[in-house]
This record gives sequence, structure tokens and C-alpha cells, in this order.
Amino acid sequence: MLVTRKKMRFDTYLTILNAIRNDLTTKRTIHDTTRISWASCSDIINDLSRFGIIMEDNDPDRQLYRPGPKTTIYKFTDTDHLILGLEITPTSINSTIIDLGKRILFKKAYILQEELTNINLYRLVRNIFYQVLEDADKSEESITTLVFALTGALDRDNLIWITSPKVHSVRSVDFHFFQQSLPFIKQVFIEHDITARANSIIRTDNSHPKNFAFLHISDGVGMAVMNNGVYIKGERGLAGEIGHIPILGYTKISGLPCYCGKQQCLESFLSSKAILHHISTTYDIDLDDLGEMHKRLSEEQSEEVRQLVFELLMNTTITIENIFDLHTLYIGGWVVEQWHAQLQQTFKHNVQEGSWLGGPKDIVFYDEETTNPSYGAAISVIHTVMHRILMEVLT
Ligand SMILES: [Zn+2]
Repeated sequence: MLVTRKKMRFDTYLTILNAIRNDLTTKRTIHDTTRISWASCSDIINDLSRFGIIMEDNDPDRQLYRPGPKTTIYKFTDTDHLILGLEITPTSINSTIIDLGKRILFKKAYILQEELTNINLYRLVRNIFYQVLEDADKSEESITTLVFALTGALDRDNLIWITSPKVHSVRSVDFHFFQQSLPFIKQVFIEHDITARANSIIRTDNSHPKNFAFLHISDGVGMAVMNNGVYIKGERGLAGEIGHIPILGYTKISGLPCYCGKQQCLESFLSSKAILHHISTTYDIDLDDLGEMHKRLSEEQSEEVRQLVFELLMNTTITIENIFDLHTLYIGGWVVEQWHAQLQQTFKHNVQEGSWLGGPKDIVFYDEETTNPSYGAAISVIHTVMHRILMEVLT
């Protein structure tokens, strides 16, 4: 009985926190929407303010001007319970600080001055952590959760970065270190960069489709798939590695050896470096970037490259659609962006026509620039963090 009552109390607090997260910011709107009694609603909101989880929002733009007494608007506190997302790339560590309401309070990329290795990783990340605090003007106590977006293979449950294609000397890095060495950090998480990137587009606000694939084609080829509202992880958390599916016998594009040690991965043909390599070996034209393609290639050469890329894109997306039966396919990244205009005209129709029973319902193109894995990683743990905070204050 006691356990049930405790759980009910916990759930009521959580419902109200989630309501505030979904932009219900006054006692009245929270009461009206959640149907929790006015008295409970009022008490809990007062409690949450007292615990320092929410605060009054005095931003003039957010006030409701209407006759009668002033209505208090609430928001999550920006001085406590903050989440810091850090995306580790070979050349930079990108940071985003959010509050529990998903609001971005600070965002900055830090260029690494030395090559990241197993040896210097702890030191570099620690230094950047303190630099972020200084630049964001936040106290050390204000950030209680750290989330990393990482490339390659991860053991999320045990916080181990197993290996990375992009940061070569990383082997079995244990992220418990940050929980132990940063005194105010209560929770540390690691997340796949592709899932984090997908989150930054769908924003995990419950309005996204429950069945989608997020396909990112840039300097590598990555995919995250959500099935019935949950990301597919696989036995070892490695599901979605579509870039490493071999296309044996394929010779139309002169492929590059893949970093995974194999020769004919999809990524060996469809990544930006593979396409640059193909242009170099076929036309003897060396480009630094795919963006130069339209200037430097003849119309005929451009058309040949376009056809090869579209053929691989079609094969890949129809395969994904038929395996997962998607509602939506999100597709983007630097390679896809080169042909945005043409793809937007024909791609959806072609994929639907080529797929079993005409899926997916929708295809959404995004720009790489609008994605932010450090933000996507941070918002993915809000729910878990709220649980932890409520456990602390209510027991
Ligand atoms: Zn591979």
C-alpha cells in the first residue's frame, strides 16, 4: 500500500514536470491539461520551485497579459540540474548545455589543439568541461549530468567507448572516469553519434513518427532506426551499421578500402571520400570537397556521377524500407545535399514505386548543418535525469 502511494506521488510529480517540458507553463494550463486537482497541482508546483527544479520565468516576452492578478509562468531552472552534451570528433569537441525543458542555454565548438588519443582524452575533455563552465558562466555545481556523443562501437550500459573509426587510437575508454573525477557530476551517459544526430532532428518531443529510419550519408554512412517508439539497438548495441554492409562484386564506383578492414562496404562507395576518390581515378580531377563538383566536372561527368550515386541511394533506401516498413525516412548529410533539388523532385516517388507496397509514407530531407549531436545526446537523457532528481527529492 505504502509503495503504491509513493509511486503515485512520484508519478504525479513526473506528470507535472513533463507538462512543463511540453510548454504548459502556468498552474492553470497544467491543471486543465493533466486533470490533476488544483490543490495538488499548486502544491507540487510550489514544491518543485522550493527544490530548485523549476523557477519563475520573468522574461517579458513570455508573460500573459490579461486582466486580474498576474499569472506566474514557470520554466526549468537554469542554475541547477543542467545537462551538458559533448560530441567528440577527431578535430573538435562540441558542447551544448540544456535545462530539463530541452532549452539550449549554451553552445560552442572547441577545436582540439592536439590529436585525440587514449592517453590525452581524459585530460582534454576535463579541460574543455571547465572551459565550457567559464564560457557559459555556469557554476560547477549547476551541471549534474554529462552525455557524450561518440562515433564507432560503444558499450552504453558499461560506459565503454570500444573503438572508433575516426579517432584511431581510442580503445576501450571507460567514461566512469568523469563521474569519479568531476565532483558534481551525478550521471554520465554515452550515446551513438548517429542516434544523437537523429534526436537533434526529431527532438524527441513525442510528435515524431514511431517508425522511422534516419540515414546520414556524409564522410561515412550511418543509420538509426526507431521501431514502435524505441531505437533498435541489437544484441551488442551495434545495430544500424548499414555503412558496413558489403556490396560484393560491385565495380561501377572504384571503391576505397573501408576502415573496418573490409574492401567493399557500402561506405567504400557512397561516402564523400569514396566519391571524391572515384572522380579522381575516373576523370583525373582532384577535388578537395564535393561542393566543387558542379564547377569542375563537365556536364556529362556530373551526370555520370549523379546516376551512380542515385542508383546506390535507391538500392539502399528500398532495402531499408522493405526491412523496417517505415513511416518516415529522414535522409541527409553532405553527399545527399549535393543533389538536394533533384532528389526532392523525384526521390520519394521512385523509392515508393520501388518498395514493397509503396512505402515509406514520407521522406524528409535535412541539412547536416541543422543537426547537433551534442544537443541530441543531451535531450535523450532528460527523462532518466528527471527520474533521478525526483528520487532524490521525494525520498
Ligand atoms: Zn566497412
